[in-house]
Amino acid sequence: MERKLKVGILGATGMVGPRFVQLLDNHPWFEIEFLAASEKSSGKPYCEACSWKLPTLLPECVKHLLVRDPEPGFDAPVVFSGLDSRVAGSIEEAFAKAGYAVISNSSNHRMDEDVPLLIPEINPEHLQLVDSQRKRYKGFIVTNPNCSTITLSLALAPLEKQFGIESACVTTLQAVSGAGYPGVPSLDIVGNIIPFIANEEEKIETETRKIFGRVAKGKIQFHPMKLSAQTTRVAVLDGHTETVAVKLRAQAGLNEIKEAFKNYRALPQELQLPTAPARPIVLKDEADRPQPRLDVEIERGMATVVGRVRECPIFDAKFVILGHNTIRGAAGAAILNAELLKAQGYFD
Ligand code: NAP
Repeated sequence: MERKLKVGILGATGMVGPRFVQLLDNHPWFEIEFLAASEKSSGKPYCEACSWKLPTLLPECVKHLLVRDPEPGFDAPVVFSGLDSRVAGSIEEAFAKAGYAVISNSSNHRMDEDVPLLIPEINPEHLQLVDSQRKRYKGFIVTNPNCSTITLSLALAPLEKQFGIESACVTTLQAVSGAGYPGVPSLDIVGNIIPFIANEEEKIETETRKIFGRVAKGKIQFHPMKLSAQTTRVAVLDGHTETVAVKLRAQAGLNEIKEAFKNYRALPQELQLPTAPARPIVLKDEADRPQPRLDVEIERGMATVVGRVRECPIFDAKFVILGHNTIRGAAGAAILNAELLKAQGYFD
């Protein structure tokens, strides 16, 4: 049996970090070698440094592992980053310069010209950008999109493939776990909706166009689709819901759209990557679904769940989508990215 690849987690103690730990426990290809966080956590055993809020036990293999400073010098070629974006930029660069493959959740490098903003189902060919990073790094950085953007992009992918997308309008209802730990104060969010999440609308509007962009001469030409996003924070623990209306380039009936959602499969499914969902999009027929409490764990949190597909009197079609923000929107997305990189030989 092939030996597992050693990996580290930067920002292991926050909201996304523990998700990495949970999803990497017993992973068939990767094993955790080190955990790092801020100086507040450094030197403490992980069980003391981290406030473990997941409904599974903290894995024994990391319970007493000492949390380290986020500085290169570890015997692990791959690092996952769940670092606070206030510090992620320079720390991730230091690791990439030192030769590590940095697989990041943070927003800092997502829009760098030579950094792939990867969703393996949609734009695996963007990985060729990694080669142009060799000029500045011994290693490289690959990012996953913002959590709302991933959920949206997966839903748009089959529509773009079959009919083309001209424009889309989206309103999000985002879970509190999306704001990190300890996140939004309960007195602000319980019984309330906060109609503002800093920088979120801009991220959805620009990242989506990069994700669907084409690589030409080593650069991404952004997709010309027009997007308009409004984002809100709601009193839900996990799972971002989004209401979407789309205008398509080619005419499509509702049944064709539903079939496109239902039948969508891509490279991760073909390669049977360990974290890939069997169905990247799950279509619900019930009139009152998807709902975060009932549907967020479908496909182990790795799918976009779509429902309420109907005609739109202004755009062509409208529907509701749901995605797990710390799994497909963060740690699970990064792990799937790493699996694709491994399958394509980028860690050899
Ligand atoms: P979080 O709960 O605030 O956790 C931040 C992590 O960064 C903690 O481990 C923290 O360590 C570490 N950190 C903070 N300052 C540091 C420093 N100066 N040096 C080293 N480590 C430092 O945030 P999160 O929700 O897990 O998000 C992590 C990243 O993923 C962010 O960039 C976020 O935008 C992105 N993201 C989050 C989600 C989500 O659903 N939450 C989804 C997609 C992307 P200490 O505990 O020691 O302070």
